[in-house]
Amino acid sequence: MTHQVPLYINGEFFESSSTKKTQVINPANQEVLAECPISTQKEMESAFETAKAAQKLWKDVPLPERARYFLKFQALIKKHQKEIAELLCKENGKIFADGMGDVWRGVEVVEHAANISSLMMGETVENVSRNIDTYSLQQPLGVCAGITPFNFPGMIPLWQYPMAIACGNSFILKPSERVPLSVMRIVELFHESGFPKGLLNVIHGGKESVDFLLEHPEVRTISFVGSVPVAKYIYQKGCENLKRVQAFAGAKNHMIVMPDANKDQTVSNLVGASCGAAGQRCMAISVAVLVGEAKKWIPEIQKGIANLKVGEWNQDEASLGPVITQQSKERIHSLIEQGVKEGATLLIDGRKVTPIGDAKGNYVGPSLFNNVTTEMSIYKEEIFGPVLCLMTADSLEEAIEIINNNPYGNGTSIFTSSGAAARKFQNKIDVGQVGINIPIPVPLPFFSFTGSRGSFFGDQHAYGKQAVKFYTQTKTITTRWFDDSMSAESNPNMTINLG
Ligand code: NAD
Repeated sequence: MTHQVPLYINGEFFESSSTKKTQVINPANQEVLAECPISTQKEMESAFETAKAAQKLWKDVPLPERARYFLKFQALIKKHQKEIAELLCKENGKIFADGMGDVWRGVEVVEHAANISSLMMGETVENVSRNIDTYSLQQPLGVCAGITPFNFPGMIPLWQYPMAIACGNSFILKPSERVPLSVMRIVELFHESGFPKGLLNVIHGGKESVDFLLEHPEVRTISFVGSVPVAKYIYQKGCENLKRVQAFAGAKNHMIVMPDANKDQTVSNLVGASCGAAGQRCMAISVAVLVGEAKKWIPEIQKGIANLKVGEWNQDEASLGPVITQQSKERIHSLIEQGVKEGATLLIDGRKVTPIGDAKGNYVGPSLFNNVTTEMSIYKEEIFGPVLCLMTADSLEEAIEIINNNPYGNGTSIFTSSGAAARKFQNKIDVGQVGINIPIPVPLPFFSFTGSRGSFFGDQHAYGKQAVKFYTQTKTITTRWFDDSMSAESNPNMTINLG
């Protein structure tokens, strides 16, 4: 009997009564791993009611006590990291090293949540008027919700619910229906950590479940990570329903290669950042802009990419696994075809790849295009596959202009040995996350994940530092301190005398 992915509501894991289900398929060999239900209306309503009730009690739990639950949760995820990574690799397709990294980046956020006390501090000003002080408190909002993508099942749900809950909220998570198994394993560890019932609830499904969260009048915040069309829909609908929304969206990340960079380091970083995790990272480098003489390095880049092998998560020689679905594979193939039709030079064609062991997965081999221009579909669209596009520029300024004219602004990087070039790049580039001699500059959670322009909709990035601002509201309190020297008439109306 096929494993049925459970719901998690009111501290219990149970099978949905829904008859509508989607399959969770191992993209490396098409094995059906489980069935994921589309939650019923009644189940979703019960998730909300339990979240609401749990939050009323949780908001008064002292901050250090909250932190202790997260310390336990963190220790349990660390203890089970390998087992979770294995599960995650089977449902997502990424190789084991990437799966371990995916879980680890989530652990870091849980550690950050355990440090919540110092982040919840308000502000105080003494003597705003005579004998009057003003101070502010950061207080939770209520029930918060999150919707997550398939490509980081370990890390991305953990970007969301630990910080929201640490701030004193409860949470409803709607993970990607394609990779719910590792998410649910981590939720089991959350449960084992002893958090009160109902604080975290997990519902499943697609658009219907998302709409339930977007339309529920008492869900206060929506955190979304996924593709651009869905991010726009969620941002617009969430705002229309007067919610706080942060929607992290797709990307087209460029790396500038300066001729003064260390060639071997640059080529190896570029190859890994473009094709690693089968190009299914929102921070993957999909375009390299070779400045001046750096265009002479194309043969080395080609050789590096040609050497990559595709295979299953546990095959040591594999550098990357399959893409998530058969449809994704077909879409990538058709974009490659389009690239050729539109005049780009296909140096490596990944459509004819033979994976290690000849497995029947959704494999796309690493692919390399040269002579790519900004009008081509392979440049304009997020391919989300192991396809690297090469362009050239005569100067750093020209390369920066190309990047700033691209509609996305998630990540970018420069490889150079010149401090002046690096300084100019960091100053002039209009992209959220910038790497200097680092190809995938995802910050640790004490900074914010800062996608910008077409890669982010919202005004607060609730991943790390700014999460407290997103998941709390500020209350400002003004206090007058009576003392014997004050006459009974002074400030009789309790207004602040600013004169
Ligand atoms: P997706 O947009 O297809 O799905 C994301 C979530 O939205 C899933 O939970 C899915 O069930 C739900 N969803 C799908 N269609 C919906 C609809 N019509 N209405 C409401 N909800 C819907 O994204 P994906 O394919 O799972 O993930 C890949 C995308 O995520 C890429 O574009 C990638 O760049 C992006 N991503 C961005 C970041 C970032 O931080 N900017 C991080 C990771 C992934």
